[in-house]
Amino acid sequence: MPPQITLKKPVEASVRGGHPWVYRDALKPFAKGLKTGDIVDLMAQDGSFVARGVIEIESPLSFRAWTLNQSERVDDALLIKRLRNAYETRQLVLASDVTGYRLCHGENDHIPGLHCDVYGDIASMRTDGGLGASWEKKFVKAVKEVVKPRAIVVRNTRDKEPRVVHGSLPDEVIISEGNRRFYVDLLKGQKTGFFLDQRENRDRVASISAGLRVLNLFSYTGGFSVAAALAGAKRVVSVDIAAPAIESARQNFSLNGIDPKLHGFQAADVFDVLEGMAETGPEYDLIVLDPPSFARSRKTLERGMRAYGALNTMAFRSLPARGLLATASCSSHVTPTAFLEMVGESAKKAGREVTILGTYGAGMDHPTKMGFPHGQYLKFVLLRVH
Ligand code: SAH
Repeated sequence: MPPQITLKKPVEASVRGGHPWVYRDALKPFAKGLKTGDIVDLMAQDGSFVARGVIEIESPLSFRAWTLNQSERVDDALLIKRLRNAYETRQLVLASDVTGYRLCHGENDHIPGLHCDVYGDIASMRTDGGLGASWEKKFVKAVKEVVKPRAIVVRNTRDKEPRVVHGSLPDEVIISEGNRRFYVDLLKGQKTGFFLDQRENRDRVASISAGLRVLNLFSYTGGFSVAAALAGAKRVVSVDIAAPAIESARQNFSLNGIDPKLHGFQAADVFDVLEGMAETGPEYDLIVLDPPSFARSRKTLERGMRAYGALNTMAFRSLPARGLLATASCSSHVTPTAFLEMVGESAKKAGREVTILGTYGAGMDHPTKMGFPHGQYLKFVLLRVH
């Protein structure tokens, strides 16, 4: 039997309901000798078994559950079983022409501390803090066994730089999703290289873009831009503050056989661009607004919500009658309800009446663990202005 840690707060119902996290302040002091990455049994104040999981001594997020079943062993075999299960789910939900996808979505796939994306035959892992570092070898071994990649890149959330830990990277990595193709920079790119989570939302943007003038704000390497342009948008303008991202967006247009010269690319601050548009009047029929997380912690939530509100209000103001807005937030601290409320208030502030065409989240390769609201981090809402 693994060593035990004990709750001092009555949070066992939430863990039993599927929430995999327990914070340090809900736990009694640990026995000496426990170290980060160890398997422990979480016990309730009444001494009953709650969950078996891993411990991270130095982090306020001290315990992450692997299983609620006391007779299940947490070992390499369970890790492989869970990762195979994750892979099988992706085979089920992804079209065969999608070569970039999330293989493992951490706790949501019941593998605490491991996010792993696949780009063709390369795996790009993100491991969480000390826990992820202590489990890195096991994670790498499991990924090798399940998807047999030609190369593996690892970034730990504490590291500055990603590392190639297996094989070597080709000069160029290109993924496809349906008719779209993208270059992915696994070493210098954001996240593990690409925003795979918006794939299904790119399809949604594509489905409404034909003939429209599209403004893609916070475009990064042009995911939504390429989707809109390939779907027959009249003109697409991509805006991102990072010049290299804008350059990659241009290259992604060429890669898809679209002449970048027929479209616009601006390395600029979105706030300035939107403020400028208040004077010029409506120039776009569809605005895509997918900012970085403005609320990285509960502390910055209020300020973050104000920033989201300001952006959405300006976007609504810039749209013509019957214009479209695709608006997103990737902050896990902003609930889908709070997000929709903010969007509604922004429309009101802008003096616009709007209809919600649909509310969506991340694609099915980014599943959510039942009982774990953090898993529903991505919100994506399509609206039409009257
Ligand atoms: N929509 C993108 C992902 C956006 S990530 C996609 O689907 O791939 C957020 C992007 O916002 C980053 O590329 C970052 O460079 C950019 N960014 C952050 N602050 C910005 C600002 N004030 N103005 C313009 N771009 C900004």
